[in-house]
Amino acid sequence: MTDSALVVVDMLYDFIDGSLACLNSKNAVREAVAFIDRMTAGQSGDENEILDTFPILFVCDHHPAGHCSFTSSGGTWPSHCVAGTHGGAVHEMLQPYMKEELTFYKGCDIDREQYSGFEGANRAGQTLGEILELMDTKDVYVCGIATEFCVRATCLDLQKAGFSVHLVAPALAYVDEAGHNATLRELEASGVRIVHK
Ligand SMILES: [Zn+2]
Repeated sequence: MTDSALVVVDMLYDFIDGSLACLNSKNAVREAVAFIDRMTAGQSGDENEILDTFPILFVCDHHPAGHCSFTSSGGTWPSHCVAGTHGGAVHEMLQPYMKEELTFYKGCDIDREQYSGFEGANRAGQTLGEILELMDTKDVYVCGIATEFCVRATCLDLQKAGFSVHLVAPALAYVDEAGHNATLRELEASGVRIVHK
């Protein structure tokens, strides 16, 4: 059993090259895969064995059409990550690492915005927080999109719940570079460890 895990936040096509494409997104996906390779070096290439020792949890924005966060419904963002669309799918380079019980969906209710993956639930209704507790996780590595919104909210909630949070900086994408840098400083000041490579 392991005491560390990786949380991949919203590495979904709409945030990579779709309606809400973020800066550094394609590079961030490559860096996320490289990070997984480094954390699992020396293991066989079989994804199931890798997941036994280094669980990888995926958080996915997963909206119904007409979600309250969309500009068409009076919200802030263009339509994105609608359930069942390509835009809401995890990038293909990361898909081999996905397991249904370790995939958590958020923003599923039409009238509720959720930035934090911490409250996201898998198909069986278990939250990310519950699963991390069940696995006896202590150190949680986080990467994903976007630094200033869902990554930030997820890190702060993980920290509040008592996990040691490590943010994998090269594997982040963001809406705005200044906002990204300010968020890294804010999270570091609140006790999140920033991993630079
Ligand atoms: Zn969303």
